[in-house]
Amino acid sequence: MRITQIMRHSALLLALTVIPQQLVSQPAKEHATRTMVVLLGTGTPVPDPDRSGPATAIVIGDSAYLVDFGPGVVRRAQAAVLDRGVTALEPGNLKVAFVTHLHSDHTAGYSDLIFTGWTSGRSTPLEVYGPTGLNSMTEHILQAYRIDIETRTNPEGNQRAIADGWKVNAHEIKPGVIYKDAKVTVTAFATRHAMESYGYRFDTPDRSIVISGDTAPTEETIKACNGCDVLVHEAQMLELYEKMPERLHSFVTKYHTTTEQLGALATKARPKLLIVYHTIGFRPGIVPPKFLSSMNGVAASRSTAEVLQEEIASRYSGPFVIGRDLDVY
Ligand SMILES: [Zn+2]
Ligand SMILES: [Zn+2]
Repeated sequence: MRITQIMRHSALLLALTVIPQQLVSQPAKEHATRTMVVLLGTGTPVPDPDRSGPATAIVIGDSAYLVDFGPGVVRRAQAAVLDRGVTALEPGNLKVAFVTHLHSDHTAGYSDLIFTGWTSGRSTPLEVYGPTGLNSMTEHILQAYRIDIETRTNPEGNQRAIADGWKVNAHEIKPGVIYKDAKVTVTAFATRHAMESYGYRFDTPDRSIVISGDTAPTEETIKACNGCDVLVHEAQMLELYEKMPERLHSFVTKYHTTTEQLGALATKARPKLLIVYHTIGFRPGIVPPKFLSSMNGVAASRSTAEVLQEEIASRYSGPFVIGRDLDVY
């Protein structure tokens, strides 16, 4: 091939392989002016080194809003600053959070958020919104850390200059608009899980974003999205579900969403982008965690992302991605 032919050939190949912009995770500087969805943790209760506990950040300019604070949340936020350039996620700048429900995988990072945020420079109380029980959880965490708080705020304490940063204003919510500031309106909607639970819709100047939390498929989620820009929704692999012992089937059926159900839900909800999260991770060739006895000690042959990609693509024709920690959309 002559050089001009090669160039034409390369240009054609490039044109054929162009991926829609919205399906590509972007460094923050690429779209610093628009609302970003930053996946801080896409995992489950499984202590997966590749997937931190559930946590998602909505970032609008220099303001950050968290949904859920699973284990690892603050270190993932710092990684988003250092590795992805999302400066609004500086730990001391984490001031507002919403929790979908009080399962430990979504809340085990609560004390980290309170205290690491404070020691990183937050000088005002943390504002947290969530279901009934949040007040009690908050009070007990603060009580548990009483000695730390007293030591850091006494006349010789190293945090005495920002002595209010450990405080938390917890708000127990009901469905409806639960938060509003100059940049965002947040609406809570009831979801269906093992306890009182909510999904959240964020309306910002340029985007509408819905986050499901843990839930079975619900009409409320479809209504909350209704053509939204981004729907972040949980999904359980059918392949894993089919291998689970019978006793776990009813839990998944009642309280979670299979890929098959997610395909049907997203078809009705019509998001411009579906991000799949809250997924159990497998690395090919490695035996899954012990408690997943359903896998019978068999090493997975494919990664979670491959299985989810295939299961959803065969059931849903809209744009979707399998979320990974620190992806930015
Ligand atoms: Zn969960
Ligand atoms: Zn849960």
